[in-house]
Amino acid sequence: MADGWVVPIVAGLLGLTIGSFLNVCSLRWPRNESVVSPGSHCPRCDAAVRWYDNVPVLSWLVLRGRCRSCAAPISAQYPMVELATGLVWAGTFAAHGATGEALRGSLFLTILCGIAISDTRFYTIPDQFSIGGAVLGFGLSFAPGGPTWLQSLLGAVVGFSVLWLVGVAGTKLIKRLSPGRLEEAGVDQAMGGGDVKMMMMIGAFLGIWGVALTVFLGSVLALLGTAVLSALGRIPGISKWLVPFGVFLAAGGAVTYAWGQQILEWYTTSVLGL
Ligand SMILES: [Zn+2]
Repeated sequence: MADGWVVPIVAGLLGLTIGSFLNVCSLRWPRNESVVSPGSHCPRCDAAVRWYDNVPVLSWLVLRGRCRSCAAPISAQYPMVELATGLVWAGTFAAHGATGEALRGSLFLTILCGIAISDTRFYTIPDQFSIGGAVLGFGLSFAPGGPTWLQSLLGAVVGFSVLWLVGVAGTKLIKRLSPGRLEEAGVDQAMGGGDVKMMMMIGAFLGIWGVALTVFLGSVLALLGTAVLSALGRIPGISKWLVPFGVFLAAGGAVTYAWGQQILEWYTTSVLGL
């Protein structure tokens, strides 16, 4: 019985460490900074973070969210992302055991998490996550489990094309129906290029059906999310016309990875009656 806990616990500890690195990547890549050097340092007093102050989650709790040298507050995002990534790895390895599929799923969900952070904070999805992730997803399709390499390739092409077309059509529509709206938001197209490349990555991991379900779920979540934000009034840091669509696509992709099969089966039998 105890054996059943070893794999998720080891994966969870690994996930905590990967979450720590994910914080660095998702905050530095959007600004074209190196994730290797300089090492972690306090943005206010520039003091280097010692290894014992860099233990995932624990260090933040011990330091009570403050820099050891100057007591500047350290964002709660750091321990939260570390914890979330740890739970993702533990959960995925609990579901799939010590298999290649567990590794593939954990990497996919970690990339989605990084995209959500970058898109929320900077309205940018770094190519390292999207293009790099697409290459990774395609490469992993040659391992057993998950989509075949052909399904992965087609998923990537369809994911890219669908969102590119939606973006082109959306831009034309908005320019006709509501001239000046895009300028007001400070963009020149309805769909960010990052979202298009991100969907290519999701297609490489999930195949064509995964793309369809992700776009559907992501759009529903984006509509709900925007409605809630509008109802709550303006939220500082969230632009009125600029929705970080990648965040909702990331959520849609995660749900599709975890429950997509069940959702599609439920839809075909209960709704379509096949
Ligand atoms: Zn400091």
